[in-house]
Amino acid sequence: MKHPSIPKKNKKPLASKPRPVQQKASHARRLIKKQKPVKKKITQSRAKITESFYGAKKPFFVKEFGDKSEYNNGYDRTAQSLHSEAFEKFVEADKEYFQRTGLNIDVNKSNARRSIRRQAELYTLKRWFGQGNPTDRPGHSLHNYGLAVDLIRTNENTLVEIMGNHGWTREKPHEPWHFEFTGSDAHGRAKNKINDLKKSNSPTTKWWNAMDNKFKKEKELESRTETYELQLSDYNAGFDEYDEWEKLYTIDVNEFNAWYKELEKDLVAHNQEVANHDKLVKQGNTWLAQIEAMEEGDAKDRELAEYDDWKARMDRDFDILNGNADTIDADFAWAEGRALELDNEFTQLEERLVELTELGNSLNGEFDALKVLEEEIKNLEHKADALLNELEVLVQNI
Ligand SMILES: [Zn+2]
Repeated sequence: MKHPSIPKKNKKPLASKPRPVQQKASHARRLIKKQKPVKKKITQSRAKITESFYGAKKPFFVKEFGDKSEYNNGYDRTAQSLHSEAFEKFVEADKEYFQRTGLNIDVNKSNARRSIRRQAELYTLKRWFGQGNPTDRPGHSLHNYGLAVDLIRTNENTLVEIMGNHGWTREKPHEPWHFEFTGSDAHGRAKNKINDLKKSNSPTTKWWNAMDNKFKKEKELESRTETYELQLSDYNAGFDEYDEWEKLYTIDVNEFNAWYKELEKDLVAHNQEVANHDKLVKQGNTWLAQIEAMEEGDAKDRELAEYDDWKARMDRDFDILNGNADTIDADFAWAEGRALELDNEFTQLEERLVELTELGNSLNGEFDALKVLEEEIKNLEHKADALLNELEVLVQNI
């Protein structure tokens, strides 16, 4: 009887191996610094403005009460800050008023001489924050020269008359409390100086322009800082999300690569088994050839029966090997799909990183611009301060 040799069906060819996923996330590109937000330094509170113009010290204010029957020099000590001649005449008026009424003349809220800085403060508070009464610009008020005083009891005829007796007159119809020392040359000189200071190139006008500019820029800084902080917080949230995403991606990639390594080991073992099997089949074919060459008879039949048993085992082994090959093929096909998924995920990560990088760059640019703005504001403050110093010198020489 004829026995065919074992067919060379062996295992099916395996699908091409997918490449293992590379972890490509380029950390080097994540160079964006998370910037600290620009510190808000908008000084809208009155306290802060007062402090910036006036320093920590409070205006000097002393009031004394004494015997009413005889003049007691209990004049309002605020008046001591006045121009010397104006002060002298104020005390004379105070004496006359005391002799007639038993009272001293009270200066309202220390408003005799007003420093340039106090004037600037009052002007700024009204102009920018709507607080207080309309006030002259620094250097434009006779208070700055010690030649004006604001009084309490302003509608009292006796007071107006006595003040008038000593060179102090009411000059502003809408400010009945405001008296000026018109009875001196200093008044005329101060008026001329004020007219000079009202010109377009004077320190006062320059100061006012600088302050105008400063407040405009402060408002701009405030609003831009707010926008910047919102963007920065979005940006940081975006990066947190990205970090979390990247972490999960890294875990997935590591798991996939470990699993893929096992799969490759399985493949190597399988190929080894196939090679061993091929070797056995080759030996079997040699064996069959020897049997075929034997003479007919019982011995040959016995050998053939043994060979048939062996061949049946080989066929079962082939089936098992083919089944393994199917499993490995399917695993590789799945790996191919998973690698593609991970690649896509990586592409998304990269796109997000590019987005974040662009946002970060624009935030860095905006941060720099805000710092420039802050620097400009600081310079304007210095400029305004220098101009106030200049004004202080100018009004002291009257
Ligand atoms: Zn006044």
